[in-house]
Parts: sequence; structure tokens; C-alpha cells
Amino acid sequence: MMKTRKPMVAGNWKMNKTLGEANELLEALKPELKDIETVDLVVCTPYIDLPLAKEILAESNIKVGAQNLHWEASGAYTGEVSASMLKDLCDYVIIGHSERRAMFGETDETVNKKVIAALGVGLQPIVCVGETLEENEAGQTEAVVDRMVREGLKGLSNEEAAKIVVAYEPVWAIGTGKTATPDQANDVHKNVVRPILREMFGKEVGNGMRILYGGSVKPSNAAELFGQSDIDGGLIGGASLKAADFVGIVKGAL
Ligand code: PEP
Repeated sequence: MMKTRKPMVAGNWKMNKTLGEANELLEALKPELKDIETVDLVVCTPYIDLPLAKEILAESNIKVGAQNLHWEASGAYTGEVSASMLKDLCDYVIIGHSERRAMFGETDETVNKKVIAALGVGLQPIVCVGETLEENEAGQTEAVVDRMVREGLKGLSNEEAAKIVVAYEPVWAIGTGKTATPDQANDVHKNVVRPILREMFGKEVGNGMRILYGGSVKPSNAAELFGQSDIDGGLIGGASLKAADFVGIVKGAL
């Protein structure tokens, strides 16, 4: 079956890359990826690298994203960055990454507030969901992912939902070298996430929303993962830090 959704490959640099290192990586990616038209490309950099990424990637086919935001519009929230501040610098924002849920107290409720704040200024959220190893082994994958999708995307109109990208990232596969098999990942995308999206936002919107896979994607496994019916690309952590690896992964989506 031909896929109708345009694939996306997004890099999540996490807390890596000084300005100098970011400059080097962005300048290396730009020419390597310049002819890619059939995949949406995004690099989600640390806040401090965003102005540089915006400048280097202006007029290129690579979009810029942030890795977090605060849901309030402005005010006394030391160390935080709002949606409208980001909107000047990027088009996408990762929300609810498992590292933020595990280490920085993010909940389904804060994820939902952040999604609403991002959409309010026209930023496209990449909303991360996924179960821990413990939950996986206890057979709770479906229940956890179901809850995260429903709560995280609560209250959105169908029109707003159409702008959301969901990333299924089983926590046990992030940065561990353990990848979910293409079948395992596609099973969650196709039989858990997709039906919920259809139920929440209608068949047309639900079928059109992209569901990325994340968790130890590398050039050697990207094509097989992205070839699955409901895996519409990837959110890439470790392997997005090296130009050759990221480019190799993008090629897996062609
Ligand atoms: C991530 O953190 O979004 C991720 C998928 O990491 P990695 O590719 O390093 O597993």
C-alpha cells in the first residue's frame, strides 16, 4: 500500500553541541541533505543554538525545532522559555520527551498545556509517548501509550490535531542500542496510536497524522523501520549528532 503521509526525520540533539559544534554539524548537514524533497527534515537543537540554526538553515529544506517550552506566555518563570519566544526562532517543538517526564517532572497534564501553548502560536508539536521497560514487561504498553496520547492531546480540535506529530519512543529503546523490532513498533503505531487518533479526531485527520518511531534508530535499521505501514519516519537522538549517521537515516526514509 502506498503511504500517503510524507515521512519526517527529526533529530533531537538533547543537551549536546556548543555553538561552535552546532555550526559545524549544521554546515555539514545542509549540502548533504539539500536535494531531499520527499522527507520533512527537522533538527531540534538546544535553545542556545536556535538562532544560529535559524540563520544557517534559512532558505534550506531543513526546519528547526526546540526540545521543550513553558506553557505560560511570559512572566516570572526563571530559566523557562515560552512558545512565542520560540516562534521567532523555529517551527517545531518536542514535547513530553521521556527524559523530561522521568527527570523533570513532566506529566500528561503539563504535556497537554505545552501542546496547547505551542499550537497557540503556530509551532508544530512533536509529542512523545512511550512505555518504560517495567511497563513493557508488565504488559502495560497499550494502556500507557493510550493514556499518554489521550491526555496529551486532550481538547484539541481536529484542525489543531492535524498539525501534531506523535513520536512513539519506547523508553527501553532510547539510547540503549536496543531497537524495537519493526513489527513491534508498527504494532503500537498501527494498533494502538492510530486507532486512538482516529477515534479522537476522525478518520481523515487520524489517518493523516504522522507517527514517528524513536529509540536507537541508526543508518542500518532505518529503512526497515520506516518501511512499515504506520511508521512515518523517526525521531533520532544519538545518531543525529553525527552528520553521516543522520544523513544515512534520512536516506532510509526515501
Ligand atoms: C530520543 O531521545 O528521542 C531518541 C530516540 O534517542 P536515541 O535515538 O539515542 O535512542
